Amino acid sequence: MTPDFETQLRAVSLRVTRPRLAVLAALRDHPHVDTDTVIALVRAEHPAISHQTVYDVLRAFTGTGLIRRIQPAGATARYEARVGDNHHHVVCRSCGAIADVECAVGHAPCLTASDDHGFTVDEAEVVYWGTCPDCATARLAQGSASSEGNK
Ligand SMILES: [Zn+2]
Ligand SMILES: [Zn+2]
Repeated sequence: MTPDFETQLRAVSLRVTRPRLAVLAALRDHPHVDTDTVIALVRAEHPAISHQTVYDVLRAFTGTGLIRRIQPAGATARYEARVGDNHHHVVCRSCGAIADVECAVGHAPCLTASDDHGFTVDEAEVVYWGTCPDCATARLAQGSASSEGNK
């Protein structure tokens, strides 16, 4: 699947610019990255694009719903280009690794508030917290290797 970035931008009434295309491409290839990583990815290919420009693009995209901003408790904000399907995330407590989890009942939105208190709900968010396989393996290795765990 090759998303047509220009069509996506026009659909939310944003002008097609090089920085905007670059940010979309970075997020397509690297889901769940933080602001610094987006800047590094964009500037690796387009050194002329400034930090401030990337910040502005991220803000414009988040505001128009073109990208989704997720911020697990205690973590830095991450961005992803997969939007509109209300999917969930599993987050590692140790290293902050994030992966997508499909809606439990297989269609979006799978979360309907039992009482919305009169709010107009446009998004529901589920975060599953745990330990990723890499960290679990590292913890096991560390536990058996030494009694002194801290470096
Ligand atoms: Zn981890
Ligand atoms: Zn995601």
